[in-house]
Amino acid sequence: AKDGGRGRLHFYAPDLHSRAEERSRLEQDLRDAIAGNALELYYQPVVSTATEKIAGFEALLRWNHPVTGWMSPAKFIPIAEESGLIGLIGEWAIRTACADLARWPTDVRCAVNVSPLQFANPELPTIVSKALESAGVDPARLELEITESVFLNSDEDTDAMFAALKNVGVRLALDDFGTGYSSLGYLQKAPFDKIKIDQSFVRGATEEGSRNGAIIAAITSLAQALGMDTTAEGVETLDELDMVRMFGCSHIQGYIYERPLDAATATDRLRTGLTA
Ligand code: C2E
Ligand code: CA
Ligand code: CA
Ligand code: CA
Repeated sequence: AKDGGRGRLHFYAPDLHSRAEERSRLEQDLRDAIAGNALELYYQPVVSTATEKIAGFEALLRWNHPVTGWMSPAKFIPIAEESGLIGLIGEWAIRTACADLARWPTDVRCAVNVSPLQFANPELPTIVSKALESAGVDPARLELEITESVFLNSDEDTDAMFAALKNVGVRLALDDFGTGYSSLGYLQKAPFDKIKIDQSFVRGATEEGSRNGAIIAAITSLAQALGMDTTAEGVETLDELDMVRMFGCSHIQGYIYERPLDAATATDRLRTGLTA
């Protein structure tokens, strides 16, 4: 066993080293990408259950890496967060989404994801209001998506940030609801306009004996009672679509309607409508 232990250590050492190297290489590439405008925002339609029309979009980062090609934000956002680059990237995303919102009809909204690290920056409300102002966009058309992790070390600064953002006039959405440390206290404390039901609840909810349907129904009626919208995320099949409609989700987002689109195609979809 001792030998095995030593063997493992010996075996893993170069691996760890190269992973650290890959990370710092990626970090440098990410800096270059920001400087060289190589990041893009894609927009996934969010569809109103009532009208079956596009109510808005969620902005999702895309990076076409010079060597490895398209890289998932699930891979590079954590690097951006650890290296502190998320501040720059996040501000760029807010400004870009506002500029695109200015070119869309005024009843179309756009949601932007906000990392907990951005949320901890006291400058965030100013960054947001300046972006809206310079694009000439009504704050009520911008929605900030925040995950439950902002509550992990919540204190009076967290409360103040929520108040300051509401004061700017943007909408707030609680993202990935139900996946982390969900507490009803968050819904009581923070002024959310929308709950986004994580796709892990949608997935498999149509299967016999699944508890997910009951959970979706409960979240939706709770949201309704509190005057909040609900978006079902990751709806892929017709069965899933029927189910989340039946349970009263006010909005639907997923491949069943559309994948994330580049800005030009998203703008086009507003004119042509959805084909699903
Ligand atoms: P998220 O905020 O939960 O975004 C939803 C993810 O689900 C997106 O993945 C979207 O492409 C994917 N999705 C949408 N519909 C479907 C579906 O029907 N089926 C399946 N399987 N997936 C679907 P994406 O674009 O890869 O983004 C991953 C995560 O990266 C996001 O999860 C978010 O946490 C983060 N992210 C993306 N853009 C940003 C950003 O600008 N800022 C920050 N801080 N995080 C971002
Ligand atoms: Ca999101
Ligand atoms: Ca989500
Ligand atoms: Ca997620």
